[in-house]
Amino acid sequence: MKDYPVYNTYQTPSWCPGCGNFGIWYALKNAFHELGLNNHDITMVFGIGCSGNLSNFLKVYGFHSIHGRTLPVATGIKLANHKLNVLATSGDGDGLGIGLGHFIHTCRRNIDITYIIHDNRVYGLTTGQTSPTSPKGFSSKSTPFGVIELPVNPVALAIISGATFVARGYSGEIDHLASLIVQGMKHKGFSVIDVLQPCVTFNPSYSYAFYNPRVYKLEDTAHNPQDYENAIKLAMEFNDKIPIGIFYKTERETYEQACIELGENPLSEDDIENISIEDIIDDLLA
Ligand code: SF4
Repeated sequence: MKDYPVYNTYQTPSWCPGCGNFGIWYALKNAFHELGLNNHDITMVFGIGCSGNLSNFLKVYGFHSIHGRTLPVATGIKLANHKLNVLATSGDGDGLGIGLGHFIHTCRRNIDITYIIHDNRVYGLTTGQTSPTSPKGFSSKSTPFGVIELPVNPVALAIISGATFVARGYSGEIDHLASLIVQGMKHKGFSVIDVLQPCVTFNPSYSYAFYNPRVYKLEDTAHNPQDYENAIKLAMEFNDKIPIGIFYKTERETYEQACIELGENPLSEDDIENISIEDIIDDLLA
């Protein structure tokens, strides 16, 4: 694993030592380098949480959105200028709790955005509450007697909701994660990468000692990412063995391609000098 400081800001990451967010930070920089992207070629939308602090440490065009709304903001940016490389990142609480509806609808739309979920199975920034991916029985400040509900399975949910590239990475496998990000960004359509990201401070049960002996790579197996049923079956595997890699990949018309109003040229390049807001409102009310 190499580092590419050209993508660093002047700020030093404030994450806890050993936090899995460091691995995602390095993997993103490696992926941008491999894709030959300059800083100004990249647009990222960040959510609220420890993952959102990434906005301070990556030197790209960025938008730090409100809680749970990374995907609507990223969608708006992509629709305004569909020539941009748009990524969105959020934690499991941000993206799969507050933002769960947006996640499902973005999968359905198949808009050409890459979405990275920092999945540490806990709310870290608010010092350790149960999140949507915390396992049943998980004891925390918010569920001292153990959580009753079943966890959300982001990989299975993305597949059945219509995402056309669905993968899982691990922040302890940075080169592998960088390769997934490269493939996700090259993919035309909504690419989802759920990242196992240890929160060493507030969820030590799911730290590197838990994941290291369990993760295995799907590319080392006979799995065909176009096999929908097997992808779902593998997405349910999360015990002594935890698969990482590409679960599912298919080709489908993207939202931008289907939206004829967008045309070839981005809306942001339209000449709006002579457009009157009154005329637009009159059109809408007609
Ligand atoms: Fe990382 Fe957890 Fe610390 Fe947040 S609280 S920076 S997720 S280790």
